[in-house]
Amino acid sequence: MTKAPQAGPFKFIAGALCLDFVNSVGGRIRTPSPRRANGGEILREQLLGYEDLLSWSQLGGAVTEREAGALVRRAQQQESDGRAVFARALCLREAIYSIFLAVLVGHAPQKADLAALNGELAIARGRERLQFVNKQWVWRWEGGDTELDRPLWPVAQSAAALLASPGLARVRECPGERCGWLFLDGSKNHSRQWCTMRDCGNLAKVRRFRARRTDAA
Ligand SMILES: [Zn+2]
Repeated sequence: MTKAPQAGPFKFIAGALCLDFVNSVGGRIRTPSPRRANGGEILREQLLGYEDLLSWSQLGGAVTEREAGALVRRAQQQESDGRAVFARALCLREAIYSIFLAVLVGHAPQKADLAALNGELAIARGRERLQFVNKQWVWRWEGGDTELDRPLWPVAQSAAALLASPGLARVRECPGERCGWLFLDGSKNHSRQWCTMRDCGNLAKVRRFRARRTDAA
Protein backbone atom coordinates (compact mmCIF):
# COMPACT_ATOMS: atom_id res chain seq x y z
CA MET A 1 0.00 0.00 0.00
CA THR A 2 1.24 3.47 -0.85
CA LYS A 3 1.24 5.93 1.99
CA ALA A 4 -0.74 9.12 1.50
CA PRO A 5 1.51 12.04 0.54
CA GLN A 6 2.20 14.74 3.09
CA ALA A 7 1.25 18.28 2.13
CA GLY A 8 4.86 19.26 2.94
CA PRO A 9 5.86 22.45 1.21
CA PHE A 10 3.13 22.32 -1.41
CA LYS A 11 0.28 24.79 -1.40
CA PHE A 12 -2.62 24.95 -3.79
CA ILE A 13 -3.74 28.55 -3.63
CA ALA A 14 -3.58 29.69 -7.25
CA GLY A 15 -7.06 28.82 -8.45
CA ALA A 16 -5.66 27.01 -11.51
CA LEU A 17 -3.69 23.77 -11.57
CA CYS A 18 -1.09 25.11 -14.01
CA LEU A 19 -0.33 28.09 -11.75
CA ASP A 20 -0.16 25.88 -8.67
CA PHE A 21 2.42 23.86 -10.60
CA VAL A 22 4.42 27.03 -11.30
CA ASN A 23 4.25 27.65 -7.54
CA SER A 24 5.81 24.29 -6.69
CA VAL A 25 8.95 26.28 -5.90
CA GLY A 26 9.61 28.04 -2.62
CA GLY A 27 9.75 31.46 -4.28
CA ARG A 28 11.30 33.14 -7.29
CA ILE A 29 13.11 36.34 -8.09
CA ARG A 30 12.07 37.58 -11.49
CA THR A 31 14.69 38.46 -14.11
CA PRO A 32 14.89 42.24 -13.75
CA SER A 33 15.10 43.12 -17.44
CA PRO A 34 11.65 43.96 -18.78
CA ARG A 35 12.74 42.77 -22.22
CA ARG A 36 13.51 39.33 -20.95
CA ALA A 37 10.37 38.16 -19.25
CA ASN A 38 11.49 34.56 -19.40
CA GLY A 39 12.21 32.80 -16.20
CA GLY A 40 13.62 33.92 -12.92
CA GLU A 41 15.83 32.59 -10.18
CA ILE A 42 14.27 29.77 -8.20
CA LEU A 43 14.96 30.34 -4.53
CA ARG A 44 14.10 26.86 -3.27
CA GLU A 45 13.23 23.90 -5.43
CA GLN A 46 10.47 21.78 -3.89
CA LEU A 47 10.29 19.15 -6.62
CA LEU A 48 13.37 17.00 -6.26
CA GLY A 49 12.38 13.88 -8.11
CA TYR A 50 9.61 11.91 -9.76
CA GLU A 51 8.05 10.88 -6.45
CA ASP A 52 7.73 14.55 -5.43
CA LEU A 53 5.98 15.21 -8.73
CA LEU A 54 3.55 12.39 -7.96
CA SER A 55 2.93 13.68 -4.42
CA TRP A 56 2.25 17.14 -5.77
CA SER A 57 -0.11 15.73 -8.39
CA GLN A 58 -2.03 13.63 -5.90
CA LEU A 59 -2.33 16.48 -3.39
CA GLY A 60 -3.55 18.78 -6.13
CA GLY A 61 -6.12 16.24 -7.29
CA ALA A 62 -4.43 15.90 -10.68
CA VAL A 63 -3.97 12.13 -10.30
CA THR A 64 -6.02 9.74 -8.24
CA GLU A 65 -4.65 7.81 -5.28
CA ARG A 66 -4.91 4.60 -7.31
CA GLU A 67 -3.00 6.11 -10.22
CA ALA A 68 -0.32 7.55 -7.93
CA GLY A 69 0.14 4.14 -6.29
CA ALA A 70 0.52 2.38 -9.64
CA LEU A 71 2.84 5.04 -11.05
CA VAL A 72 5.14 5.05 -8.04
CA ARG A 73 5.66 1.31 -8.44
CA ARG A 74 6.25 1.69 -12.17
CA ALA A 75 8.76 4.49 -11.62
CA GLN A 76 10.69 2.26 -9.21
CA GLN A 77 10.92 -0.38 -11.95
CA GLN A 78 11.77 2.12 -14.70
CA GLU A 79 14.02 4.58 -12.94
CA SER A 80 15.52 6.23 -16.01
CA ASP A 81 12.07 6.73 -17.57
CA GLY A 82 10.93 8.35 -14.32
CA ARG A 83 13.93 10.69 -14.41
CA ALA A 84 13.19 11.60 -18.03
CA VAL A 85 9.56 12.42 -17.23
CA PHE A 86 10.68 14.44 -14.22
CA ALA A 87 13.01 16.51 -16.44
CA ARG A 88 10.10 17.09 -18.82
CA ALA A 89 7.96 18.20 -15.88
CA LEU A 90 10.44 20.88 -14.82
CA CYS A 91 10.76 21.98 -18.45
CA LEU A 92 6.99 22.26 -18.74
CA ARG A 93 6.74 24.15 -15.45
CA GLU A 94 9.34 26.73 -16.46
CA ALA A 95 7.77 27.11 -19.93
CA ILE A 96 4.38 27.76 -18.34
CA TYR A 97 5.93 30.23 -15.90
CA SER A 98 7.68 32.12 -18.72
CA ILE A 99 4.55 32.21 -20.85
CA PHE A 100 2.39 33.64 -18.05
CA LEU A 101 5.12 36.10 -17.13
CA ALA A 102 5.18 37.26 -20.76
CA VAL A 103 1.40 37.70 -20.56
CA LEU A 104 1.78 39.74 -17.36
CA VAL A 105 4.30 42.14 -18.89
CA GLY A 106 2.49 42.31 -22.24
CA HIS A 107 5.07 40.45 -24.33
CA ALA A 108 4.68 37.66 -26.86
CA PRO A 109 5.79 34.30 -25.46
CA GLN A 110 9.19 32.88 -26.31
CA LYS A 111 8.91 30.41 -29.19
CA ALA A 112 10.72 27.66 -27.27
CA ASP A 113 8.33 27.98 -24.32
CA LEU A 114 5.26 27.80 -26.52
CA ALA A 115 6.75 24.82 -28.37
CA ALA A 116 7.39 23.04 -25.05
CA LEU A 117 3.82 23.60 -23.92
CA ASN A 118 2.38 22.58 -27.29
CA GLY A 119 4.51 19.43 -27.28
CA GLU A 120 3.14 18.34 -23.89
CA LEU A 121 -0.34 19.40 -24.88
CA ALA A 122 -0.28 17.20 -27.97
CA ILE A 123 0.67 14.20 -25.82
CA ALA A 124 -2.03 15.04 -23.28
CA ARG A 125 -4.72 15.45 -25.91
CA GLY A 126 -3.74 12.13 -27.42
CA ARG A 127 -4.60 10.53 -24.08
CA GLU A 128 -8.06 12.03 -23.73
CA ARG A 129 -10.97 9.69 -24.28
CA LEU A 130 -14.63 10.50 -24.32
CA GLN A 131 -16.51 7.93 -22.27
CA PHE A 132 -20.10 7.21 -21.35
CA VAL A 133 -20.20 6.53 -17.61
CA ASN A 134 -23.32 6.36 -15.42
CA LYS A 135 -25.42 7.81 -18.24
CA GLN A 136 -23.09 10.78 -18.59
CA TRP A 137 -20.44 11.80 -21.11
CA VAL A 138 -17.11 12.45 -19.47
CA TRP A 139 -13.50 13.05 -20.51
CA ARG A 140 -11.14 10.48 -19.07
CA TRP A 141 -7.38 9.93 -19.38
CA GLU A 142 -6.37 6.68 -21.01
CA GLY A 143 -3.34 4.98 -19.48
CA GLY A 144 -3.54 6.93 -16.25
CA ASP A 145 -2.01 4.16 -14.20
CA THR A 146 0.61 3.01 -16.69
CA GLU A 147 2.06 6.11 -18.31
CA LEU A 148 4.66 7.87 -16.19
CA ASP A 149 3.91 11.25 -17.77
CA ARG A 150 0.30 11.08 -16.55
CA PRO A 151 0.86 13.94 -14.02
CA LEU A 152 1.81 16.30 -16.86
CA TRP A 153 -1.38 15.90 -18.90
CA PRO A 154 -3.81 17.89 -16.74
CA VAL A 155 -1.16 20.55 -16.11
CA ALA A 156 -0.63 21.17 -19.83
CA GLN A 157 -4.36 21.11 -20.39
CA SER A 158 -4.93 23.58 -17.55
CA ALA A 159 -2.37 26.02 -18.99
CA ALA A 160 -3.90 25.87 -22.46
CA ALA A 161 -7.42 26.32 -21.09
CA LEU A 162 -6.40 29.33 -19.01
CA LEU A 163 -4.40 30.99 -21.79
CA ALA A 164 -7.36 30.76 -24.15
CA SER A 165 -9.93 31.97 -21.61
CA PRO A 166 -11.11 35.37 -20.34
CA GLY A 167 -9.65 34.31 -16.97
CA LEU A 168 -6.21 35.14 -18.39
CA ALA A 169 -6.81 38.81 -17.57
CA ARG A 170 -7.07 37.80 -13.92
CA VAL A 171 -3.66 36.16 -13.62
CA ARG A 172 -1.49 38.01 -11.10
CA GLU A 173 2.02 37.74 -9.73
CA CYS A 174 2.36 38.02 -5.96
CA PRO A 175 4.35 41.18 -5.15
CA GLY A 176 5.71 39.58 -1.97
CA GLU A 177 9.46 39.82 -1.59
CA ARG A 178 11.15 36.63 -2.80
CA CYS A 179 7.79 35.08 -3.67
CA GLY A 180 6.88 35.46 -7.35
CA TRP A 181 4.00 33.00 -7.14
CA LEU A 182 1.27 33.31 -9.71
CA PHE A 183 -2.44 33.09 -9.03
CA LEU A 184 -5.84 33.80 -10.46
CA ASP A 185 -7.65 36.73 -8.88
CA GLY A 186 -11.11 35.27 -8.40
CA SER A 187 -12.33 38.02 -6.09
CA LYS A 188 -15.47 39.91 -7.07
CA ASN A 189 -13.83 43.34 -7.09
CA HIS A 190 -10.51 42.16 -8.62
CA SER A 191 -8.69 43.02 -5.41
CA ARG A 192 -6.70 39.91 -4.56
CA GLN A 193 -3.14 41.09 -4.16
CA TRP A 194 -1.23 38.33 -2.41
CA CYS A 195 -0.63 34.61 -2.91
CA THR A 196 -1.91 34.17 0.66
CA MET A 197 -2.65 36.69 3.36
CA ARG A 198 -1.01 34.34 5.85
CA ASP A 199 2.31 34.44 4.05
CA CYS A 200 3.11 37.47 1.90
CA GLY A 201 0.10 39.58 2.95
CA ASN A 202 0.97 39.50 6.64
CA LEU A 203 4.67 40.02 5.98
CA ALA A 204 3.85 43.18 4.06
CA LYS A 205 1.60 44.35 6.90
CA VAL A 206 4.37 43.81 9.45
CA ARG A 207 6.84 45.69 7.23
CA ARG A 208 4.44 48.64 6.83
CA PHE A 209 3.86 48.68 10.59
CA ARG A 210 7.60 48.68 11.33
CA ALA A 211 8.21 51.41 8.77
CA ARG A 212 5.53 53.59 10.38
CA ARG A 213 7.06 53.04 13.81
CA THR A 214 10.51 54.00 12.52
CA ASP A 215 9.05 57.14 10.92
CA ALA A 216 7.29 58.07 14.15
CA ALA A 217 10.39 57.52 16.29
ZN1 LIG B 1 3.45 35.62 -2.19
